Amino acid sequence: MTKTISILGSTGSIGRQTLDVVDQLGVRVAALTCGSNLERMTEQCRKYRPQLAVMSTKELADRLQTALQDPEIRVMWGKDGLLEAAAMPEADTVITAVVGMMGLEPTLAAVRAGKRIGLANKETLVCAGELVMSEADLYGAEIIPVDSEHSAIFQCLMGCGDRGEVKRLILTASGGAFYGKTMEELRTAKKDEALKHPNWKMGQKITIDCATMLNKGLEFIEAMRLYRMPPEKISVVVHRQSIVHSLVEFKDGAVLAQLGVPDMRIPIQLALTYPNRVESPADGLDLLTCGPLTFAAPDLETFPCLKLAMDAAHTGGTACAVLNGANEEAVAAYLRDEIGFYDISDSIACAMSQVPVVQNPSLEQILEADRLARQAAKQYFLKR
Ligand code: NDP
Ligand code: MG
Repeated sequence: MTKTISILGSTGSIGRQTLDVVDQLGVRVAALTCGSNLERMTEQCRKYRPQLAVMSTKELADRLQTALQDPEIRVMWGKDGLLEAAAMPEADTVITAVVGMMGLEPTLAAVRAGKRIGLANKETLVCAGELVMSEADLYGAEIIPVDSEHSAIFQCLMGCGDRGEVKRLILTASGGAFYGKTMEELRTAKKDEALKHPNWKMGQKITIDCATMLNKGLEFIEAMRLYRMPPEKISVVVHRQSIVHSLVEFKDGAVLAQLGVPDMRIPIQLALTYPNRVESPADGLDLLTCGPLTFAAPDLETFPCLKLAMDAAHTGGTACAVLNGANEEAVAAYLRDEIGFYDISDSIACAMSQVPVVQNPSLEQILEADRLARQAAKQYFLKR
């Protein structure tokens, strides 16, 4: 059971919900970090009095220090601050809730400090899953997924001593804002529509990833790494209601699922309390009113990003980092209204065809693949 926590990305969607859980459980806070949301960080620091608070730039860190006037809160900035927050001896658990590949090095720092990691930042496992998981074994760090699908699988696998008994992991996908739309309609679809997720309120980047269905592709790779499963043993079904969070099919034909209302505080809390379960602020699930539960095959033609991610999963090595790096650039450009919906998948495909794949990559090779993928995506935007 977590006693003291560091939250990387405390001002975001997962970060704030983690603080709700912290309130519920009475956990102490060692460190809070954010990008630029000075106002929210100031409020959080006043309430939780962490030993360390981290902003993305020196200027913001100076402003936070001035606003706080609290000699007990050390203020740092940038990557050094994030690395320090990730490895603080005072914290037993680190929640990685920053968005994107920038979460990789802090996650590795937490792993090497032997922390329990509540892993929300999926891009980390997508880019460097093999490395992170092998270092976690080496340093005795416990990685507990926060992503609702992986938390569901984690729960279905509790008590399963032999992974050889697992026939298939089944990830459920809400289908995002654009489920049921035609390619013609999506060609001109803008961010305002893409940001309207039917079931979850999340940060902008992941909400766009849901609209393209790349989010499910990232989760496909994340599942492969977390549970050390080959891609052939993972499948995706569209389940619009987000009540069944994922399933595990066993060799004998038994299928276990985890159900619950779509509320991230449930998986976040389990990451803090595991192996125990305690009361949660989330609503209970009422099977009589949650409506019919439906399941359908994903449409890989209308949502090519999912297919690209499955291809990267089969290729392995740095292919997944290339997919992710190009996508991060593409989503940022889409959010700035600079490119169209299908430019996201086209730029990823372009980067994947250009950047050479390295198998069993080192951290440096992963970072280089990410850099080349971003460069290829940006060149694609200029030429299109
Ligand atoms: P948000 O965009 O809501 O929050 C991101 C956090 O990262 C914020 O605290 C933000 O600070 C911080 N951040 C942004 N840029 C920087 C930077 N340059 N340096 C340091 N910190 C930075 O994202 P979410 O909470 O939605 O998602 C976080 C991660 O969790 C993602 O990887 C996502 O895929 C994953 N996830 C999220 C789920 C959800 O329900 N939201 C579900 C499953 C997984 P600031 O506020 O100052 O910008
Ligand atoms: Mg998810």
